[in-house]
Amino acid sequence: MRVWVGIDDTDSSRGMCTTYLAVLAMERVERELGKVIGFPRLIRLNPTIPYKTRGNGAVSFLVEVDDVGELVDVVNEVIIEHAMLDDEKTNPGAVFVDEELAVKLKPFADKAIKDVLQIDEALFVIGKYFIPHLRHKKGRGLIGALAAVGAELEDFTLELIAYRYPERFGTEREYDEESFFDMDYELYPQTFDNVDWCNDVVVCIPNTPCPVLYGIRGESVEALYKAMESVKTEPVDRRMIFVTNHATDMHLIGEEEVHRLENYRSYRLRGRVTLEPYDIEGGHVFFEIDTKFGSVKCAAFEPTKQFRNVIRLLRKGDVVEVYGSMKKDTINLEKIQIVELAEIWVEKNPICPSCGRRMESAGRGQGFRCKKCRTKADEKLREKVERELQPGFYEVPPSARRHLSKPLIRMNVEGRHIFR
Ligand SMILES: [Zn+2]
Repeated sequence: MRVWVGIDDTDSSRGMCTTYLAVLAMERVERELGKVIGFPRLIRLNPTIPYKTRGNGAVSFLVEVDDVGELVDVVNEVIIEHAMLDDEKTNPGAVFVDEELAVKLKPFADKAIKDVLQIDEALFVIGKYFIPHLRHKKGRGLIGALAAVGAELEDFTLELIAYRYPERFGTEREYDEESFFDMDYELYPQTFDNVDWCNDVVVCIPNTPCPVLYGIRGESVEALYKAMESVKTEPVDRRMIFVTNHATDMHLIGEEEVHRLENYRSYRLRGRVTLEPYDIEGGHVFFEIDTKFGSVKCAAFEPTKQFRNVIRLLRKGDVVEVYGSMKKDTINLEKIQIVELAEIWVEKNPICPSCGRRMESAGRGQGFRCKKCRTKADEKLREKVERELQPGFYEVPPSARRHLSKPLIRMNVEGRHIFR
């Protein structure tokens, strides 16, 4: 029989990674029970969930085995041996879903990616379909485990994750930075968001104590293998390609889908600038737009770097579409479309027609005159301000990109201003 295994919440900020634990489980299934079918999947869930550390990602993989009970036992052993169970915030969960049943979990998965779910809702689904499962401690991982099985990916990308030798876990990673930039230069956009040229950062290497050496993102298996061959690093122990919902915007809720905005959800929203951008201490930039839901505050935080320079050019009346997560009643921008620029006019003193100098006021209500030529004029001059901003799409740089955010290079739209 073919069964989907979903696993989540086995890691902590102090170590482990659910993708690694899944790879270990897959190895044991292949050795002892049956076979693994296709690539595993790494599904990112709602990125704003407050109690989640880092990426909020869950893993699923499809196996063919004779006995589900044996499968449950093997996965349980791997969790007990490797999950960070002594960390208070680590609450592992695993589910074992008949392949035919997986499609029924789609609505649950959609909700886990876009909305906020409670553990009871996961237990309800498990009870309804009699899903074999494992629950450690609070078992919050059941939510992600079910979602990783049920998620339907209309769009997807791949990630090749290379793992370190266990004796190196927690030590500084050894790699040749230059080789990652060379790889990007060679393969982009077949591989993407692995380095940030402008900010000079290799984005695909974590600096947590987890087993991951790097995770290279790309569009095809072929490109990922080429990338793997071209980067120079410490020796790689294991590697695996995951099918992911990275870079798909799957977390975004369109403004037409809802009647109100809520914190801890991510939106695509259209509006007109009502309060012009201003900086606060720390380099964070804020502005406000008028939307169908009323006034909404938007923010480009300091880590979004050069993206803030775009935001600072917004003026009252500009029409924009913003993409980002709502926290503390503020949209944290991931992307923006400048739909329409407002015309901005300024009044200036007229120019003297004979000498070309700027004329001066001749006194209150007296019009203007040129001091030198004595020419007179009644009216101020209205001049249109040349806008420095161009309409189109702008995005945060790769170093500030969320896992789920779709970079412009993957979007088929007019007027892309790509930050690579
Ligand atoms: Zn003059």
